[in-house]
Amino acid sequence: MSPSPFGRVTVLGLGVLGAQIALQTAAHGVEVTAYDVDDAALQVGRGRLDAFAAAAAGEVAHPDAYRSAPGRIRLTADLADSVRKADLVIEAVPETLALKRDAWARVGAAAPEQTVFATNSSSLLPSAIADATGRPDRFLALHFANRIWRQNTAEIMGTPETDVAVADRVEVFAVAIGMVPIRLHREQAGYVLNSLLIPFLSAAAELLVKGVATPETIDTTWRVATGAPAGPFQIYDVVGLRTAYAIASANPQGAPWAAYLKEHYLDRGLLGVESGEGFYRYR
Ligand code: NAD
Repeated sequence: MSPSPFGRVTVLGLGVLGAQIALQTAAHGVEVTAYDVDDAALQVGRGRLDAFAAAAAGEVAHPDAYRSAPGRIRLTADLADSVRKADLVIEAVPETLALKRDAWARVGAAAPEQTVFATNSSSLLPSAIADATGRPDRFLALHFANRIWRQNTAEIMGTPETDVAVADRVEVFAVAIGMVPIRLHREQAGYVLNSLLIPFLSAAAELLVKGVATPETIDTTWRVATGAPAGPFQIYDVVGLRTAYAIASANPQGAPWAAYLKEHYLDRGLLGVESGEGFYRYR
């Protein structure tokens, strides 16, 4: 494995994903600075780093690197200071276009000229943000998944303006921090993974809502016929039924599925793996 081409990485936002990105990067020997808006947010972020380090340590081959990683991450609530020496800035602030554009404009004004910028946005296209950075040729999307140490895809998606050499370096970085890089050749809402997964899960939901078959039957069909280890309702339980409900509610065509989930699962406290029961029971 090549060493990281970026020696100093700054992560913006120590939320659910930002904390995991900071942890994963630090656990692979890269110097990490993490920025959040104020001391209270940093304190919550510190708690997240510790919790994710403990969770990762129980699931990886080299747990000590994760246990010691939070102590090696520098925390700051000073944005300009956080990026002043950065080689790569990874942004994981809330999924609001105006907020992201504002954060990038401030980072663009403070970071060295050669610093590479990446957004972890799940649903915004990088071309909607690129001009705010002031350096669209050095800006792209680098999209990680929740539980980064295990679900270790890193989707790399530039805009038409992104320099290919920059995307190449980001790909080497992704491998250096233990990721499987997924390179996209053009912009696509939902990247590769969600472009496949969301229609698949929606089709399964439709079969259930229409009363065609039970979750067990639908999952068995998929597993036996394709050799896949899990069917769509097993995946729903892992994703969490609250998230499934939020996605369904945001789409007018998802209304029947949202209503079904609410009545049969959410209102009964059945949220999937996290609550011990969803479509299946977990110990
Ligand atoms: P989150 O709400 O858990 O965390 C956001 C963090 O950003 C918070 O700590 C908040 O204090 C901080 N913040 C708020 N305003 C800020 C600002 N102006 N500058 C810097 N930090 C600021 O959100 P999240 O779930 O970690 O999502 C962050 C990004 O990651 C989003 O773009 C989301 O689409 C993406 N993402 C999330 C997941 C997921 O499963 N949660 C998976 C992949 C990608």
